[in-house]
Amino acid sequence: MREIAWVFVDNLGRELEILLNKTKGMWGWMKINLRCINFECHEILEVDLNNDFRYQYTCKYCDTVTKGVLTLQRFQVLFDLGIICLKKGFYKEAVSNFASSLERCYEYSIKRILYNNDKTKEEIEDIWKFIKSQSERQYGAFLFLYYNVFGQKIETPSVKFRNDVTHNGYFPTEEETIKYAEDIFNAITKILFNIVDLKKDYEYLLPIREDEVYIDYISFISPFDFFTLTDEGSVKNNKPKFHERYRIFYENENLDVAVG
Ligand SMILES: [Zn+2]
Repeated sequence: MREIAWVFVDNLGRELEILLNKTKGMWGWMKINLRCINFECHEILEVDLNNDFRYQYTCKYCDTVTKGVLTLQRFQVLFDLGIICLKKGFYKEAVSNFASSLERCYEYSIKRILYNNDKTKEEIEDIWKFIKSQSERQYGAFLFLYYNVFGQKIETPSVKFRNDVTHNGYFPTEEETIKYAEDIFNAITKILFNIVDLKKDYEYLLPIREDEVYIDYISFISPFDFFTLTDEGSVKNNKPKFHERYRIFYENENLDVAVG
């Protein structure tokens, strides 16, 4: 039996049936690949991306129920979605996801710095309310906090380009989108290179309940990329390169990353 997703009428008045199996690749970019928690099975399962990153899914191979939280920050998922849109040719959407990713990285950094300075989760959330819906204020708060701790000024890259795409209806080319992705990637990795040194953990950003587990997931931007394994252990000296990472994502579709 054919599974019809929906029917639409084209500009000549013809009814076109869109079949589910044909559209899967085209419309399925809000899915991510997560593994079954049963180590004897460990199959990759396609799961709908949701807003709070909490998941409960049943394995179709062994019936094991996995209940847990993604070991990810929102800025990582947004960047991955940007990469998926880029690969599929949705350049406008890609730019928007990359821009959001950097903004959420600012939020993550602000909270991480405050937490490291012994502010409680409640105190942080309480003051965050003042700037929650204003991204320029968030950037301002980030700029000064980060400068105070690390002595570096982080600039938001390609603001005019982002505004043209997101507000003025500009359609970017593939080349422009890749360049923008690289600029955002460089800004985020520059920030994280310092942030990963902060002593206090950020567990409260990934709260876990008693009956949950952390679900592993490899993101395009990974804090582990800053470290190199040596005989003495791991050393933080590595600055990840966008094009290397992009090539891996393109060539190895089997990585446990969000799929398009
Ligand atoms: Zn399983």
